[in-house]
Amino acid sequence: MADFDGLSDALNLRKAQSLYRSRRLLTSAQQPQQQIDGKDVISFCSNDYLGLANHPKVKEAFTKAVELYGVGSGASHLVNGHSALHHELELTLAEFTGRDRAVLFSTGFMANMGSITALVGRGDAVLQDKWNHASLIDAGLASAAKFKRYQHCDLASLERQLLSCSDAGRTLIVTDSVFSMDGDIAPLAELADLADAHNACLMIDDAHGFGVLGTTGAGASEQFQLSQDRLPVLMGTLGKACGTFGAFVAGSEELVETLIQHARSYIYTTALPPAVAAASLASIELIQTEGWRRDRLQQLISQLRAGIERIGFPLMESGTPIQPVLIGDAELALKISGKLEENGLLVTAIRPPTVPDGTSRLRITLSAEHTEAQVGRLLSVLGDVYDQLSTQEREQLSQAR
Ligand code: PMP
Repeated sequence: MADFDGLSDALNLRKAQSLYRSRRLLTSAQQPQQQIDGKDVISFCSNDYLGLANHPKVKEAFTKAVELYGVGSGASHLVNGHSALHHELELTLAEFTGRDRAVLFSTGFMANMGSITALVGRGDAVLQDKWNHASLIDAGLASAAKFKRYQHCDLASLERQLLSCSDAGRTLIVTDSVFSMDGDIAPLAELADLADAHNACLMIDDAHGFGVLGTTGAGASEQFQLSQDRLPVLMGTLGKACGTFGAFVAGSEELVETLIQHARSYIYTTALPPAVAAASLASIELIQTEGWRRDRLQQLISQLRAGIERIGFPLMESGTPIQPVLIGDAELALKISGKLEENGLLVTAIRPPTVPDGTSRLRITLSAEHTEAQVGRLLSVLGDVYDQLSTQEREQLSQAR
């Protein structure tokens, strides 16, 4: 183990810098009122934005499918793991997102890895928003294409990079639609225009938009009316607003066939359990028919934002269920998260390296299943915590602004 000397020093350093990450033990379903590490808490850190992870219809679809199909899919899609339920889900996702076809991946991380590495390689270029999700960044690095990161949502910065890659074979522009740690939305229509002008292809990761954005919940492509020619590569995940698990990429026949032939994280992995596909189908029906869930989210978002602004905590600019409060210092973010937890409220402190140094934050996420009273309770405790901050801590907060 000589090469691994230093592991415990590195871990201890992380602890000393308030950057150590630990897992918590959840002993209840994923829902606002939950039990974690043996304590009852109201959780404000799940990505189950529509409250479907524990919905009776979704659970029923899952258990019925288990009776018919068993639990494991037993093989990869290209061997004999591709069940009729996977097929039906792919058809539904294609229709819902207005694409010719869709292909399922076992996770969003794998969808991004597989797609980017299948679409670009040596001689090509991949240009990504600096704040893209880690799976997109890793995929770009793994692709052997020229990899560049443009400034966050900055079209001029992207354009400069497009010009510097004009000799590339294919050029892929990749962005999160909703940024997972910030909650803001990329300028998708303008990105599609730039892609068009520079003969590049646009890919979005709609992990946090699918189910939440658009009148029927089809996601960012619906909200920004981006058809398949303007937005050829649409990736979405099922583990967030859909409340289940897995991911998909939707687009043209050629795109989907290319991924099936070449995406290594598609080819060399076991297919999702078919029952997860059945549960996802039930969730999608709820996403489409229960528009009140998105309306309710909007009401809760307004309640939360108005309350936090009144208190004085610096709130980041976001109209989505991801509502980060910018704290700045990692230790202070942990301290505030700890105080909330002492009061039965679970809000994660997000720290470097997930976010840049000096931008630690409390990532509050809302669900359509939260009640106004639960949001009210969060606001009341946040108010008390703010009142108890020292002058020096308030100073730190204002520097984070
Ligand atoms: N993209 C984004 C923007 C995400 O936030 C996540 C999950 N945190 C993923 C991709 C990965 O999805 P999955 O959890 O299904 O692997």
